[in-house]
Amino acid sequence: MYTLNDKISGLVPYEPVSGTYKIRLDANESCFNLPVEIMAQLHMALDSLDFNRYPDPNAQELCTAFAGYYGIDAGCVTAGNGSDELISIIMNAFLMKDDTLVTVEPDFSMYRFYASLSEVNCVQVQKADGLNIDVDVVLRTVRETGARAIIFSNPCNPTSKALRYDEVRKLLNGTDALVVLDEAYMDFWEQSLLHEVNAYDNLLILRTASKAVGAAALRLGFAVANPVITRALKAVKSPYNVNSFSQAAGAVLYKNRDYLSNVKKTIVSLRNALYNGLIELLQDFPDRFALVEGNTNFVFIKTWDAKDIFEYLLQNGIAVRLMGGYLRVTAGTQEENEAFLKTLRVYFTGKKA
Ligand SMILES: *Cc1c(COP(=O)(O)O)cnc(C)c1O
Repeated sequence: MYTLNDKISGLVPYEPVSGTYKIRLDANESCFNLPVEIMAQLHMALDSLDFNRYPDPNAQELCTAFAGYYGIDAGCVTAGNGSDELISIIMNAFLMKDDTLVTVEPDFSMYRFYASLSEVNCVQVQKADGLNIDVDVVLRTVRETGARAIIFSNPCNPTSKALRYDEVRKLLNGTDALVVLDEAYMDFWEQSLLHEVNAYDNLLILRTASKAVGAAALRLGFAVANPVITRALKAVKSPYNVNSFSQAAGAVLYKNRDYLSNVKKTIVSLRNALYNGLIELLQDFPDRFALVEGNTNFVFIKTWDAKDIFEYLLQNGIAVRLMGGYLRVTAGTQEENEAFLKTLRVYFTGKKA
């Protein structure tokens, strides 16, 4: 009889918040679909595709448009089927079975997931109460465990906290291990090391089109690194990993630079509005919850009844993300944010009475 091996027998398929909710603030997507002008450009790109041909394995046009938007060299860029795919490739190829990877906790759960599939040994550094990364502790852990790689998100999902670039440089300079710096939310903060990849032999940066760019549907991720790492990545990825339509659509998107920088600013102001709305709520309900000052497109809330609030919001058609004693709430449109804040106020009012 065939039986599944130990590393996969207990796994279950990934399920985001299931069901249909009129307000989705649970997945850190952009709250804006693409405008009609860009949709029209996408239609044109679709019209000129050769559907009978394999995609460009190097995703040249896409990588050039991405590099153009960020002002970097296209030769440093590798495209992936979402940054999730790139994380998986890194775990598989840049680490050997039983190598050690250092992660921090809490952080993006996919790192540990792919590490375990690759039979990589994962050592977690627990963040202290302030949820900050202590670079010295990470470096000490890397030294003591002989780790071959470190991975973390900056700014962090789920905490929304961020490390300044001098801290990240200190980490890079303090180790020979590969530092995988996941900048999925860096569009919202501006402390990117994208321009410095050639200064380090151990830096690999990940970016995505799923958050600020508003194209989670396309599944586009990017790795940015020096030529040695980039060449290795291109050699180990599957040749046609990014389909032709996503390549063409992504190229269109990254060429619309004004649109991207404007929508990013709008999302930041919506995040600020959400944050300020919560601060106001705190004034009426002191100590009811605690807030993390955010550097992303979401807000991280600590409260003892996170689960009850989560369920109450769901009953009212609003999906957020429940993470233990925390709620992670993506900035929505003005109307969505207001509906969320109003519902939360009703919840607190009820509890208070
Ligand atoms: C959303 C997210 C990603 C992006 O994943 P994609 O596969 O590109 O959609 C990567 N890292 C973190 C920390 C994220 O939150």
